[in-house]
Amino acid sequence: MQKISTGNANIIKNLIASKEQIVITSHHNPDGDAIGSVLGLHHILSAMGCSSMMIIPNEIPDFLTWLPGSEKILRFSKNSKAAAEAISSAEIIFSLDYNSPKRLEGMQSYFDQSSAIKILIDHHPNPDNVFQWTLSDTWASSTAELVYEFATILDMESRVDENAALCIYTGIMTDTGSFSYACSNPRTFEIAAKLIAKGVKGEMAQQLVYNNFSESRMRLLGYSLESKMKVFPEFRTAFISLTQEELKRFKYRIGDTEGLVNYPLSIKNIIFSALFIENKGFVKVSLRSVGEFPANKICEEFFSGGGHVNAAGGKSFATMQETETKFVEILKQYQKELNQ
Ligand code: 5GP
Ligand code: MN
Repeated sequence: MQKISTGNANIIKNLIASKEQIVITSHHNPDGDAIGSVLGLHHILSAMGCSSMMIIPNEIPDFLTWLPGSEKILRFSKNSKAAAEAISSAEIIFSLDYNSPKRLEGMQSYFDQSSAIKILIDHHPNPDNVFQWTLSDTWASSTAELVYEFATILDMESRVDENAALCIYTGIMTDTGSFSYACSNPRTFEIAAKLIAKGVKGEMAQQLVYNNFSESRMRLLGYSLESKMKVFPEFRTAFISLTQEELKRFKYRIGDTEGLVNYPLSIKNIIFSALFIENKGFVKVSLRSVGEFPANKICEEFFSGGGHVNAAGGKSFATMQETETKFVEILKQYQKELNQ
């Protein structure tokens, strides 16, 4: 693995210019940062005269489909043959917003077998040793911010057009909760300012991402907070769990529970929050924390997952009831750390 820097920018530039089959990928259940980064990089490469294919493992949530170019993203879940062929014949694969091919789920085996040059742009800790080139920085607010840095390093800032800027801005906005966390680095705001100067309407992005709920999604939020949130003041923790039956009742669509895990953190003194969503064969676990309590450590240790210190995810292969019981046991084990 070699770090991408201004010192080797020309190697990367030549690499991109000399290869025809460029594939840009991101993780399963993509969020705003994943989609914003993929599209942002795609638009920058286009402006450099390079074509690229965007491939993700599954659906794009509704609240991101307005982003320019999103209709061109190939979904492995819908078009597995075309996606697998493109990955197998790729000469360069960009990996955006994930630190391990495991996060590609069903797409992983094609990625693993591919002989493409693999370039990582990401802000998660400890990337797997499978990438030839990396732009990996846990201090960055988002991968989208690093996509902008990538353009800067290649001396291609001028190729960040209005479409690229909008996608990158949306990635930063969503991964920082509209600049409310993970953005203590001035560079995040410098880049946001440059994106606004390139024509991004920040208010519009905010409106389209956050004020775009269906009625049933809004009612699911209300129900989750009123009827399903359990609060444990002694552990400064709260969690919400939702079964398939409940999701069905609220006409669940992918993306409808996005952001839900953050709400309990608005309660005074709550510093740790969990969301459990029943899936086929497992329970999807999402954890959020405030301060130093390591959500990623809990996910690595107990839920076959990982992530950032304050935002992590994983899976539980037990029933919902067992998952909740196990979680309370974990809280007991970490009571001291939770109360520091
Ligand atoms: P979310 O809770 O929104 O699904 O994910 C929050 C963060 O946790 C993601 O940005 C990602 O870093 C991490 N994450 C989510 N699910 C998984 C998972 O299954 N495995 C790993 N390693 N990380 C995950
Ligand atoms: Mn991210």
